[in-house]
Amino acid sequence: MSMSQKLFPVRERCKICRKQLGAKGAPVLFGLYCSAKCAGIAEPVQSATHANTPRECRILRREGSGEGQWVFKHRYRSEAEIDQSLREDPSTSWYWCNHCGHLHLGRTYPFDFKQAELFGKSDNGYFEVTLDGFHGF
Ligand SMILES: [Zn+2]
Ligand SMILES: [Zn+2]
Repeated sequence: MSMSQKLFPVRERCKICRKQLGAKGAPVLFGLYCSAKCAGIAEPVQSATHANTPRECRILRREGSGEGQWVFKHRYRSEAEIDQSLREDPSTSWYWCNHCGHLHLGRTYPFDFKQAELFGKSDNGYFEVTLDGFHGF
C-alpha cells in the first residue's frame, strides 16, 4: 500500500464510490473503502467458526482447560483506534487482514518460546495471542 494514500479517518470518502466512510461505526476496509465490493475482495465470512474463516481474522479463545472457541479478532478501522498502550507495547503489532479488510493485533515475536510452540504459528507469521490479558483482541 502506498504511503501517500490518505487513510480513514483523514480520508472521508470511499476511494471507489465516494460514499462517506465510517459513519455511525460503519466498516472501513483497508482505510480506503466502504465495502468488500469496493475493496475488490470477497464478502467476509459471517461466522468465526466457519472453516473458511482464515486464521489472520480469528482467534481460538480458551477458557480454562476447555477446547476453546473461535471468535473474530477485534476489528480496527485505523491505527488511531488501537489503544495507545498497545501501540506502544513493542511486542504488539498490527496488520491489515486480507479477509475482512480491517486491522488486527498480533505479536511481533514469541513472548515465551514454549507457549509459542504450544499455540503454533499462524499463517501470516504472527503468533496467536491467547493469554488471559489479551482476550480483547
Ligand atoms: Zn465504496
Ligand atoms: Zn479480519
